Amino acid sequence: MNDHEVLARAAAHAQRYLDRLNERPVGATVTADALRQRLGGPLPAESSDAADVIDALVADTEGGLLASTGGRFFGWVIGGALPVALAADWLTSTWDQNAASVACSPAEAVIEEICGTWLKALLGLPATASYAFVTGCQMAHTTALAAARHKLLAERGVDVERQGLAGAPPLRLLMSENRHESIPRSARLLGIGTDAITLLPVDGDGALELDALAAALRESDRPTAVCLQAGDLNTGAFDAFNEACDLAHAAGAWVHVDGAFGLWAATSERHRHFVAGVERADSWATDGHKWLNLPFDNGFVFVADPEAHRAVFTMETSYSAASRGAREQRDWTPEWSRRGRAVSCYAAIRALGRTGIGEMVARCCDHATQLVDGLAALPGVEVLARPRINQGLVRFLDRDGVHDARTDATIAAIQASGVAWFGGTTWRGKRAMRISVCNWRTTDDDVRRTLDAVAQIVKRNAE
Ligand SMILES: *Cc1c(COP(=O)(O)O)cnc(C)c1O
Repeated sequence: MNDHEVLARAAAHAQRYLDRLNERPVGATVTADALRQRLGGPLPAESSDAADVIDALVADTEGGLLASTGGRFFGWVIGGALPVALAADWLTSTWDQNAASVACSPAEAVIEEICGTWLKALLGLPATASYAFVTGCQMAHTTALAAARHKLLAERGVDVERQGLAGAPPLRLLMSENRHESIPRSARLLGIGTDAITLLPVDGDGALELDALAAALRESDRPTAVCLQAGDLNTGAFDAFNEACDLAHAAGAWVHVDGAFGLWAATSERHRHFVAGVERADSWATDGHKWLNLPFDNGFVFVADPEAHRAVFTMETSYSAASRGAREQRDWTPEWSRRGRAVSCYAAIRALGRTGIGEMVARCCDHATQLVDGLAALPGVEVLARPRINQGLVRFLDRDGVHDARTDATIAAIQASGVAWFGGTTWRGKRAMRISVCNWRTTDDDVRRTLDAVAQIVKRNAE
């Protein structure tokens, strides 16, 4: 099979995809059934030409991809891919190294070490914290809470990695009612269970109520982890890290921070104050594939007590080469074999630098504010949350008072227009449209085009 022809074909397709990104409909234009028809069929019995397979892949997926890597995708919290990170990702797949161990790829092991150090400096986390590169924030939570489980139970004489949870005192997790569902999922996976979770109320700004936290901490001496948020999924709210860490640590609790995207506020001078005190937590989970604009499969976890982190994952095998003094990546991750996902992180940080990353983050925040303020100027639009960082909420009011239905219908109409893409949410009992900006590509022109499209839909509604 000829390397050159098939790779050249893929590179040309990729370039064409990006060239047309700004013009293609942002949402999908074909159904999953149509895609099954095109892509499916019986198991291929015979071989096919590799370049033909690549051509067919491009033709058959047409209309089934969301232009989420483009500048007018504002759904969920999905970043794009910086060209330098995408290019480095191509190399990562080309080199096809196993990033589990120094012996398998000294270069990728060293790149991870450097990225670990750089990321801690960028995010304002303790230089002594351990780190790991995982698939996303979900696995970052799982890794961090496994370290918490180790430490909290070791303090009570239980070696959980050896003895398991049977017979151990039950753990307890405290978090706000605005938590991301990935945290309860980690609790399920780790044998902590969702019954161990107590949801605490938030104040008017969406931050965990400190009185409620203090009362919950007093209520029980069960081993406890407190999960705080840097950037909640609807409004980007931040918890009061200094005060919450004071309370939790005085009670002997572990503090974990879900900073999937919000931790990146630390990189922007104007937004850094939101994460004041976050460095006092015990573990942090965040994503590279959101606000750092790396391709997917890039989550980062940091643990203030490296021994608690390493105790969960370290291992010896008969066939692993001893790498004296070097950091073995698989000693810190749930995965064994895996791709060198830190390579794209390295390329992005080198290309943008601290200043460039801070500017990208601040620019996204400004565009989110422009979008929400622009929407607010349209008739029948109510702002539920003006962005403090990159997340905002609006809803669309209906003459007959069915605002939830009007909001969902307007979101659907915007998606169908192909000009921009927003998602819906339910916030404090009301249907709302979420505005999320975390793509490096979004420009002032994208904001204008989006606002024009929404204005037309709102006008049509009023007629
Ligand atoms: C996206 C997100 C997660 C989950 O991250 P993945 O990278 O999808 O695993 C967790 N918490 C918050 C606040 C998020 O926005």
